[in-house]
Amino acid sequence: MARDSLIPARWGLQIVKFFAAGGARSAWRFPADGGHNARMKDLTPFCCNHDERPPDEAVRLIVIHAISLPPDDFGGPGVEQLFTNTLDPEAHPYYATIHHLRVSAHYFIRRDGETICFVDPERRAWHAGVSCWNGRERCNDFSIGIELEGCDTMPFEPVQYERLAALVVELKRRYPIEAVVGHADIAPGRKTDPGPFFDWDRLFSLLSRRNDIRAGAHPDVKF
Ligand SMILES: [Zn+2]
Repeated sequence: MARDSLIPARWGLQIVKFFAAGGARSAWRFPADGGHNARMKDLTPFCCNHDERPPDEAVRLIVIHAISLPPDDFGGPGVEQLFTNTLDPEAHPYYATIHHLRVSAHYFIRRDGETICFVDPERRAWHAGVSCWNGRERCNDFSIGIELEGCDTMPFEPVQYERLAALVVELKRRYPIEAVVGHADIAPGRKTDPGPFFDWDRLFSLLSRRNDIRAGAHPDVKF
């Protein structure tokens, strides 16, 4: 499926409306000290894979993932298509095995730092699956999922860490976030992402430079 078909012509108008609206999410620019002043690309109108969080459930956890579609291939539209249920099963042999999945993450950070929001963080995205953190199961209920475009065999890009750190800071301001963990930490034996090349110390260092963040050590960043 062509990338164009994923993003209708009205997309441009929605972007303008989104940032002109002055609502809470429209203010979600990366802080200037994030180095890029980038706006977040909003694909929430096109992602259906989310639902209500349980009543009175606070967002306490950030879960970091890595994904690339096709595997180990960067820059294509596969992830956007997967999260918007438009992945073409005939476009790649691997897609035939996953196109039926109904999954999502709140955010996706590409190799060049472009950041896409698929699910409003107020909503429950479907990213963690069977999982457990601090004795609590079903981490989707109380977490925000951030996917980095990456894999288990290659380092991530510096700009991805910068965007990730800026995003974590923004989320920490809005929610009582207690920790940042990897998907593998909450689904051991089942998941490996963000993988051995994810540099927790680098994230820790970026977060520690910010006055309002006190982060712990690898493998979890605790606040
Ligand atoms: Zn994952």
